[in-house]
Amino acid sequence: MSSIPLPIDCVIGINYICNSRCVMCDIWKIKSFPELLPEEYLKLPASLLDVNISGGETFLRKDIPEVIRAVRTACPQARVVISTNGFMPAFIEQQMKKILEIDPTIGVAISIDGVGAMHETVRRIPDAYKKSTETLERLQSLGMKNLRFAFTIIPENVTHFSKVYDDACERRIQFTHSYAQSSDNYFGGIHIMNDPDLRVLRQQYEHIIGRELQSWNLKRWARAFYAYSLYRFINEKKQVLNNDPGTRFFFMASDGVVYPSVVHNYAMGNLKNFNSWGELWNSEEAETARAKVRTEGKPAWMICTARTAIKKHPWQVASWVVKNKFFGLELV
Ligand code: SF4
Repeated sequence: MSSIPLPIDCVIGINYICNSRCVMCDIWKIKSFPELLPEEYLKLPASLLDVNISGGETFLRKDIPEVIRAVRTACPQARVVISTNGFMPAFIEQQMKKILEIDPTIGVAISIDGVGAMHETVRRIPDAYKKSTETLERLQSLGMKNLRFAFTIIPENVTHFSKVYDDACERRIQFTHSYAQSSDNYFGGIHIMNDPDLRVLRQQYEHIIGRELQSWNLKRWARAFYAYSLYRFINEKKQVLNNDPGTRFFFMASDGVVYPSVVHNYAMGNLKNFNSWGELWNSEEAETARAKVRTEGKPAWMICTARTAIKKHPWQVASWVVKNKFFGLELV
């Protein structure tokens, strides 16, 4: 069997327990789920350029500094970002002091699904917005610059999409967003009907994409394209660009099982059962999962899958940016 190129992007769920009660995710209902030991992350491939450490609530893993140390050792070139709901401000600050000693460049993405009470409506945790923004402020006081708000679009909070974007801009942090999708192997296996008001959604996207395109910053133009492509995905349930789940990126669950992505429930193998990443990646099980993606695969569009697609099709992205920046935004 010929050798498959090594992946460059991934999401790693390091635990499946959570202290939130989000309406669009059932992970919080899971009471216990196996977790890899920190040293097992040493088998991750050095080819990775982007690693999103996700959960559950990541900071409920008390040994998160050791997990980060192993990821950083295995993937020296990677940009590492930890996702958190930010509901334990003082404890997160304490853990981040240790993590910053291991990796001063690490990023943190704090989930915010609305400004003020709306965040509490989605997360169903008292004072949710106050707690999450306190976490942000504590991390800023540590001197962290690599910080962002992460917004998840659902019907309930679509009117707050641009408000959270503006909030992030005012606080001088980055903004990222996703669209809640059903999954058999993630989000606690939840299946949801995510049908936000498309007229409102369009207005929100026009505001956000317009502001990103006004900038003179390549990264922000790429984000504008990502936003446009997610808007199209929500409307048409089709990907604007093709990508290769299970080839250039993967999702690894907290028990070590690797999947092509969070929505492709085809196990490629458990990292615990292999001596090295290369063995897993070139295994028959992994190849069978890739074949299923090709024949039965469903469209999926989220930051990790989109990022690899954007890197693969730079000219298509550049031509969209030129057209929409200089000749007016067209959302289709
Ligand atoms: S979306 Fe995140 S914070 Fe909410 S229940 Fe799921 S894992 Fe927890």
